[in-house]
Amino acid sequence: MAEILSVASEAYPLVKTGGLADVVGALPAALAPHGHRVTTMLPGYPAVLRALGRPRAVRRWDDLMGVPARLLRGEMAGHPLLVLDAPDLFARDGGPYADADGAEWPDNWRRFAAFSRAAADAALGTVGSDRFDLLHAHDWQAAMAATYLRYADGAVPPGGIRPRSVVTVHNIAFQGAYAAELFPDLGLPDAAWGIDGVEYWGGVGFLKGGLESADAITTVSPTYAEEVLDPEFGMGLDGLMRARRDRLTGIVNGIDPAVWSPAADPALPARYTARTLSRRTRNKRAVEGAFGLDAGQGPLFCVVSRLTWQKGMDVLARVTDDLVAGGGRLALLGSGDADLEAAFRAAAERSPGRIGVRIGYDEGLSHLLQGGADAILIPSRFEPCGLTQLYGLSYGCVPVVARTGGLADTVVDANAAALAAGCATGIVLDRVTDDALVRGLRRAAALYARPDAWAAIQRAGMRGDWSWVESGRRYADLYAGLLAA
Ligand code: ADP
Repeated sequence: MAEILSVASEAYPLVKTGGLADVVGALPAALAPHGHRVTTMLPGYPAVLRALGRPRAVRRWDDLMGVPARLLRGEMAGHPLLVLDAPDLFARDGGPYADADGAEWPDNWRRFAAFSRAAADAALGTVGSDRFDLLHAHDWQAAMAATYLRYADGAVPPGGIRPRSVVTVHNIAFQGAYAAELFPDLGLPDAAWGIDGVEYWGGVGFLKGGLESADAITTVSPTYAEEVLDPEFGMGLDGLMRARRDRLTGIVNGIDPAVWSPAADPALPARYTARTLSRRTRNKRAVEGAFGLDAGQGPLFCVVSRLTWQKGMDVLARVTDDLVAGGGRLALLGSGDADLEAAFRAAAERSPGRIGVRIGYDEGLSHLLQGGADAILIPSRFEPCGLTQLYGLSYGCVPVVARTGGLADTVVDANAAALAAGCATGIVLDRVTDDALVRGLRRAAALYARPDAWAAIQRAGMRGDWSWVESGRRYADLYAGLLAA
């Protein structure tokens, strides 16, 4: 049995702002059948500390990048958990990365450098008696753990083996890029400053430093693993990704059936399976009630998303009148850019009873939408994996997606051939433009008007295996290869 330390800035159910949390929360159970024990490590945000109950301190630092800190041991859904309790860094109201007004914490570099440093210490066994075989760091907030591990020469006992490291990129747009001036404060040797270290376009790059240091790099779908080699998607890191291509794999995310399963979802007024799809009508009525929508003949589209350019939400905001003119309705749950929030509020005012908007974050409502709406709109400009289309597929909420990243890997377009073969699961847009989205909405409405065809699409999605079984095996294979090396 290998001991894995999975390090991330969020994990469902303790702290979540997006798909990263769902994945990190699901990994321990996904890897247990393969003989790996996954310990998750999180920052000690107030919500995480509250959930810990009576934790045990396993290590103290008098000066972890300038602040005192403790490492606490607890549990998350029955799996081992380590929490970095550093009140100067994490005991704050607001979100994990920003204050209540959405302004990023100015000391994020220190918060996540300290977190990464502590994770490397933990992996090396300088914490209590535990030692880990492999450190798996997620995204820029944890990526530097691989860097600290790489430069931790004194901490590896003579003849000892340095733990292996994996860095997973859940979204390459978030990089943790900072000014060069803070390099001396990171506590890294001078050797770490350089083109194969943390130096990144003249500054310091946290994700970059982690990617240079990791024994293996993964991203969250095969198509995205190809896309990040390209300047259009690599966002400055495509050269590095090309240079380290032999270390890079794409493993698509699964979904946790304990959380996302329409037959057993406590958030749904009516639970159902592919054989009892008509029960969804009750959920649809609940969606209409929650969003103030009138009944209608056409499809009820939904959105559960960050409202950002990445997600193509500006495109959707421009075509809501077309959506309504085509007989559709829209229930939108999301938050993000202020101008997009305002645009969707205005759309709801223009089309009362046809468009309902809830600005905010609501886990229960996100389940209700998947279980009650007819289709979910995901016109992302790039999408490393995407989880909402997987939830849609398994809930019979037909995904209308852009052909990019994990969306391209998981949704089969309802073209004539796929419909005839019975394998169509959604609608795939060739491009993310106003015209392409309007065409996709029209195709959805036309298919929805053919109840048998629509039900076949729903059922094909629900038949798919979106669980972690296959992806868990692929991570296990990756770990096994690294540990054997
Ligand atoms: P990303 O991580 O890029 O935001 P994903 O599709 O990978 O996108 O994951 C988004 C996750 O966050 C999903 O679990 C989705 O249901 C959830 N989510 C996004 N916005 C909201 C919201 N406003 N309310 C509730 N859940 C949300």
